[in-house]
Amino acid sequence: MMLENERLVLEFAGAEAGARAVFLTGSGTAGMEAAVLNVLGEGDRVLVVDGGSFGARFCRICGVHGIPHDAIRLAAGRQIRQEDLAPFDGKGYTALLVNKHETSTGVLYDMDSLADFCRRNGMLLVVDNISSFLADEFDMAALGADVMIAGSQKALACAPGVSVLVLGPRALERVERNRPKTFYLDLKAALADGARGQTPFTPAVGILRQIHARLESIAAAGGAASEIRRTARLATHFRSGIRGLPLEFFSENPSNAVTALHPTNGISAYDVFLELKNHHGLWICPNGGELKDSVFRVGHMGALTTADNETLVAALGTVLGGGGTDPAAGTPGTRMANP
Ligand SMILES: *Cc1c(COP(=O)(O)O)cnc(C)c1O
Repeated sequence: MMLENERLVLEFAGAEAGARAVFLTGSGTAGMEAAVLNVLGEGDRVLVVDGGSFGARFCRICGVHGIPHDAIRLAAGRQIRQEDLAPFDGKGYTALLVNKHETSTGVLYDMDSLADFCRRNGMLLVVDNISSFLADEFDMAALGADVMIAGSQKALACAPGVSVLVLGPRALERVERNRPKTFYLDLKAALADGARGQTPFTPAVGILRQIHARLESIAAAGGAASEIRRTARLATHFRSGIRGLPLEFFSENPSNAVTALHPTNGISAYDVFLELKNHHGLWICPNGGELKDSVFRVGHMGALTTADNETLVAALGTVLGGGGTDPAAGTPGTRMANP
């Protein structure tokens, strides 16, 4: 079963020949920390794309482990552009860490630009694809990415508790050479045992069995591309359903996985979450921190249907006091560029 899990994850990630996948018991953040600890070191100069709480998490992981790093700070919801990268070009950085989908704001970063930047600068590319794997297109080999991180509970839609790392040849070389100060997250044992379908420590067996069933069902339904199309259709259906409601898109270039929305009629985004939960039995995802009152998020991952979208859109219409679906009202406004 584990050999099949590895084979299907490699296939769905578009990994190059010679790449390996390992399954760690721990949530997605364990995968982020394992990637930093095993692939990077004190001799690196790391650049982190920090446009929200998951970018900030990569910075904190590097900080805890004494890995020299600088952040490219982006305003919440903003796409990365050439002008953001230019100051860091040719400056001796050795690796880039990016959350392809910064889930806290819903923005999907321009991976082609980031991959070009890494190629030009001879940098390793580590991609946190946790909330985007199987929701948005990703071709690890074409991008030249060295590490991809996924998690069990996002578009894989299984229980939380397992993270997956895909390591390309350059990353595997680094893992073999590195002596990370961690026992549990040292990937050498996971790679060696994984070659015969084993794990070095007792894994979350139930979740690995769920992942196996899920990967097989995706394969039977046409593979990663068809699962991504399914999620894209749900996202598009929802986004056209909210036309006419007093909402605007919060992020540039939103991922298929999540729509981040800002109410434009003065209602607190957090109150929209509370109203839906308390009076409609519907759960959307509230934001925290500075964005608590201005942004809420709607997920499109997992066992959702267009009928679920319609239920939510109708409830949003009641809560926001808007007109519901009204094609004549045009597309929702947007804070920045229209997705
Ligand atoms: C969910 C998520 C993680 C991991 O969070 P855990 O709670 O540790 O599973 C990491 N990065 C991104 C972009 C995420 O969406």
